[in-house]
Amino acid sequence: MAQLSDDCFAFGGPMMSVDEAVGLITTRVNAIADLETVMLADADGRVLARDIAAPVPLPPFTNSAVDGYAVRNTDLPQAEERALPLDGRIQAGGPANVAVKPGHTARIFTGAPMPPGAGTVFMQEDVRIDEAGKIVLPPGLKPGANVRPAGEDISEGHIALRAGQRLRPQHVALAAAFGLTRLDAVRRIRVAVFSTGDELASPGAPRSASQLFDSNRFMLMAMLRRLGCEVSDLGILRDDRSLLADGLKRVAGTHDLILTTGGVSTGEEDHVKSAVESVGSLVLWRMAIKPGRPVAMGIIGGTPLIGLPGNPVASFVTFVHVVRPTVLALAGSLPEPLTPMPLRAAFSYKKKAGRREYVRATLRRGDDGALEAVKFPREGAGLLSSLVETDGLVELGENITGVEPGQSVGFLPYAGLI
Ligand code: AMP
Ligand code: MG
Repeated sequence: MAQLSDDCFAFGGPMMSVDEAVGLITTRVNAIADLETVMLADADGRVLARDIAAPVPLPPFTNSAVDGYAVRNTDLPQAEERALPLDGRIQAGGPANVAVKPGHTARIFTGAPMPPGAGTVFMQEDVRIDEAGKIVLPPGLKPGANVRPAGEDISEGHIALRAGQRLRPQHVALAAAFGLTRLDAVRRIRVAVFSTGDELASPGAPRSASQLFDSNRFMLMAMLRRLGCEVSDLGILRDDRSLLADGLKRVAGTHDLILTTGGVSTGEEDHVKSAVESVGSLVLWRMAIKPGRPVAMGIIGGTPLIGLPGNPVASFVTFVHVVRPTVLALAGSLPEPLTPMPLRAAFSYKKKAGRREYVRATLRRGDDGALEAVKFPREGAGLLSSLVETDGLVELGENITGVEPGQSVGFLPYAGLI
């Protein structure tokens, strides 16, 4: 488990910007040290624990990039076309031990090894065969054309994958291209998740007239799994301080992170705060972010706890900016800053300076074909439909006080958030 000090999340200022929150998490949360070996086929989404130096060059041997005809560079036609007799045939996967003789050309296929002596390949579309059966090559091709030299992609010994890389399909492909079958990965981050609130019923359980079904827990568990975490579902903890305190103590020793939703505002029925304080330490981060509410940052026996707001959209947005960097830091992952893509606003909006706002928006093509963001018509932080019916978040920085149609804004698609 990652052992963090009780004052790990201490922060002096009255309001915390999103960048300050991410910076503080990145510098103060230590990575866990436990590694495990994973099979290549199961490596997607895992965090690589060690650098990987290319054990072979890529491609491993010089080969043809096209189906065509291989020649020696000294036989390349200069000003006029030239007819060469055909001698030899090299297929992909076949041997290339017979050299192309001077003044001859060999039939070759894409991916086949270049025969000794040959330096250039003519595409089959660019040649013709004359009455004598000779291959007529056009002039003008540069030496080395249509050839993929060994190591042109990656040279042997190059550090091709870095420790801390969160593996995506292309990284798995590279490891496979090196012939690796297993990788050293950071063990999955173990996260205990629970919701709090007497007003919640679990889907499948009876719901009283004053209850709603707990949606946040399932949203957060799904987001955590997408980040590669191993999730323990602790259900709903009732608004009862001692029950909460017991629950928290129980999971702190066996998890790397505790994540809660609801009950961290300052109402007297918000018991998570006092429960955490009774078994560990807690600070409330008043983040300059909308939608959002204070986020509770605690340490229980060295284990971090993050208490997200109960409103679903606030929970979603604060997850992205607080939980995501925490999970990445615990896993020793390289930072993955979120990069909003510029596109055109198709809405007007007023906002206060000094805080960052996230506007739920749908993408569409404007009359000129350019991408535009259309704001969801309503703004409540409790509206799940606003997340379901949109494509992502328009990020409006601290200095912005308003948006007019046509203005360029930054857009974060949901798919890029986790
Ligand atoms: P709280 O942060 O506990 O003050 O809750 C704020 C709002 O979010 C209230 O309307 C809660 O009913 C709602 N809420 C809290 N937890 C959840 C949850 N797990 N799923 C859905 N809504 C919730
Ligand atoms: Mg509550």
